[in-house]
Amino acid sequence: MKAVRFHRHGGPEVLQYEEAADPVPNADEALVRVRACALNHLDLWARNGLPNVTIPMPHISGSDISGVVEWVPPEEKLFSRGDEVVVNPGIGCGRCDRCLSGRDNQCREYTIIGYGTDGGYAELVKVKRTHLIRKPEGMTFEEAASFPLVFETAYHMLVTKARVVPGDTVLVLAANSGVGSAAVQIAKLLGARVIATAGDPEKMAKAEELGAESTIDHYKQDVLEEVKKLTGKRGVDVVVEHVGRATWQWSLKALAKGGRLVTCGATTGADVATDLRYVYNRELTVFGSFMAGMGELLDVVRLFERRKLKTVVDSVFPLEKAAEAQTRMEGSKHFGKIVLRI
Ligand SMILES: [Zn+2]
Repeated sequence: MKAVRFHRHGGPEVLQYEEAADPVPNADEALVRVRACALNHLDLWARNGLPNVTIPMPHISGSDISGVVEWVPPEEKLFSRGDEVVVNPGIGCGRCDRCLSGRDNQCREYTIIGYGTDGGYAELVKVKRTHLIRKPEGMTFEEAASFPLVFETAYHMLVTKARVVPGDTVLVLAANSGVGSAAVQIAKLLGARVIATAGDPEKMAKAEELGAESTIDHYKQDVLEEVKKLTGKRGVDVVVEHVGRATWQWSLKALAKGGRLVTCGATTGADVATDLRYVYNRELTVFGSFMAGMGELLDVVRLFERRKLKTVVDSVFPLEKAAEAQTRMEGSKHFGKIVLRI
């Protein structure tokens, strides 16, 4: 098969479009012919290399996969060859207390397809057969690949962790990102008033189309001042944080008393200083959030089937242009998901 692999860590130049051996599925796995695969920041981290993390080499990235079932073992009853599917990207052991209570994202053996295993930057991928999900009707393969990881993450952050209720005001950072564009929609669906930040007027307009009531230009405006103006100095109930060092200080300060900050990432750096006086005096809660349980992904799929959520595809690149696609992501030029077509 054709695949995009890297044999060593480095910049986009280490990605090679080349011939690779077809994956051979184990007895509990299915083989999927990949039709589209969305990019995630995880792909950049894996490519660049992380301290204390060993990425198997050569490596095929790609966690958000849609495609057509090529092969399933005979005992598989729900799916057969030719079925159009999306793939649950999170892999738990399936038998520990966390997995069995629906918190597979807390499994000690948890990993993500395309990170701990070979992923979807390829013509074929093998996945656990229990990870196949029927592609929602009416969705293109590109749209179907664009939603699993970021929408399940945003759902877990807002529904499971921060427990947003109607009447809450939610500040979503970087609404142009995959998680941001999902969080704006889910917070709105939960009945919250949504304030979103974005990097230019075009992205601000798109965030408003997705449901943000107000937007703040995070390059040109003082976000904290604007939040104070928009909330009558009260602050917001929930901050959706995934930016890290560049925003952490004012993310905490933007919260109203009793506010909840939920974080799922640190794209600008992870070592941040926290003024603990804000946390205890104002009774703030900080939630860490990592992926989601598979049941939450199925909740998200149902919301797409009922047309309550919209996929947000920024751009589509052919597989062989994966380096170009990753460069677009690194430059934060996108709004929504960058997708490879295979
Ligand atoms: Zn487990």
